[in-house]
Amino acid sequence: MTARSIDGAACGAEVEAGLTSRIAALSADGVVPHLAVVIVGDDPASQVYVAAKERACERLGIQSTRVDLSSDCTVEEVSATVSNLNSDPDVNGILVQSPLPDGMDEVSITDLIDPAKDVDGFNAANLGRLVQGDVSGLLPCTPAGVMQMLEFAGVKISGARAVVLGRSRIVGMPMALLLAQKGADATVTIAHSRTQNLAEVCREADILIAAVGRAEMVRENWVKPGAAVIDVGVNRIDDESRESGTRLAGDVHPEVAEVAGALSPVPGGVGPMTIAMLMSNTVRASELQS
Ligand code: NDP
Repeated sequence: MTARSIDGAACGAEVEAGLTSRIAALSADGVVPHLAVVIVGDDPASQVYVAAKERACERLGIQSTRVDLSSDCTVEEVSATVSNLNSDPDVNGILVQSPLPDGMDEVSITDLIDPAKDVDGFNAANLGRLVQGDVSGLLPCTPAGVMQMLEFAGVKISGARAVVLGRSRIVGMPMALLLAQKGADATVTIAHSRTQNLAEVCREADILIAAVGRAEMVRENWVKPGAAVIDVGVNRIDDESRESGTRLAGDVHPEVAEVAGALSPVPGGVGPMTIAMLMSNTVRASELQS
């Protein structure tokens, strides 16, 4: 069997197409959705991610503002920047790009963002709503994007056995909550670095979400034949056949395509969907604020 590819770019384009009429309706009311991105330091990967977010804003007619702070700025400066954006009525969405420099606590900075403008969905108030089963607010973009990809690919979630590999605050844990919520109704196992017999646990999954940050860790014999596999991982690995000497790799080994029923590629899978969901959250935040 060769797995169907779950095309995140196509799914993201569909999400973005659905936003255009909502953006037009906001514009008719004099509101241009406005996303502010705070970037601290010059991490090269962050620069690439932020540029992709800015391009998406431009594509959709969403205003974007980028606030660059130097890597040696203080926590107080970052806090003051967030506070100014919170009180700026022209700004609808705020995100502080991860990672922050060593010594800055991402959780406490995220919690400074006004929950109504928290378009990453990482603020304790928004994550707390998700825990309470309320999915009507601003949801974390990557897990919300994965849910859309499963729907787009026609994967049956209700009653399915799902395994989420990874339990981070930004991907694994909210992913598990979204899959288990009423209405989605999967039976979810969360696996992590202390899980025993990982391959065996993963092999039980009808839906396997890999979010570990370990290149090509999930092998063919970890996957139930016909399972839907979503590869969230983004890892840079050596590849001497490339001019750059490196390439991007997911958390799932390419050999998994021989056994899975459907598989999302890296790149071109979850990445574009994360950006599409950020745009969706920015529009949603603008609607809720107006
Ligand atoms: P974290 O490092 O925060 O979390 C990784 C999780 O994987 C942890 O729960 C950890 O377990 C678990 N883990 C690590 N090693 C193993 C192992 N050997 N066996 C089992 N479990 C393991 O990563 P993130 O959740 O932030 O990101 C995961 C991946 O997704 C990364 O590659 C990241 O780049 C990518 N990503 C992609 C996005 C996109 O838009 N495409 C967006 C966000 C992330 P424990 O808790 O026990 O330490």
